[in-house]
Amino acid sequence: MPEDLLLRMMDLQGYSFERGELLNGEFHVWARDDRRWVDCPRCHQLARRHDVREVTLTERPALGHKTVLRVWRPRFRCSACHALITAEVGVREEGFRLTRLLAGAVIEAAREAPVKFVAALCHLSWNTVT
Ligand SMILES: [Zn+2]
Repeated sequence: MPEDLLLRMMDLQGYSFERGELLNGEFHVWARDDRRWVDCPRCHQLARRHDVREVTLTERPALGHKTVLRVWRPRFRCSACHALITAEVGVREEGFRLTRLLAGAVIEAAREAPVKFVAALCHLSWNTVT
């Protein structure tokens, strides 16, 4: 599958594809935010890339496999005001471990199907679906 198509299907425009692997029956996709600079929201000077953290999210299943999206999320340090700026991961609501696309699919499916079925279909726990 072409990498740019995979990123578009996961709503990851603006990210670079790192790699994809099937690990223990789960499809893992690594994507990274390559930006080197961002505008500091506090003082509007340029903030330089400081380091990178990995965010792990569950995405919609692909070909029957649980899909795990691993996004390399940069942090930026402003040299003017010393603010540490963490890049948003646009494919999720902040603090959630599911992608927006999976969360939407779960909400839609749970309107019509039993929770147990939706959980099994999406490779999620019963508690995550409810
Ligand atoms: Zn600043």
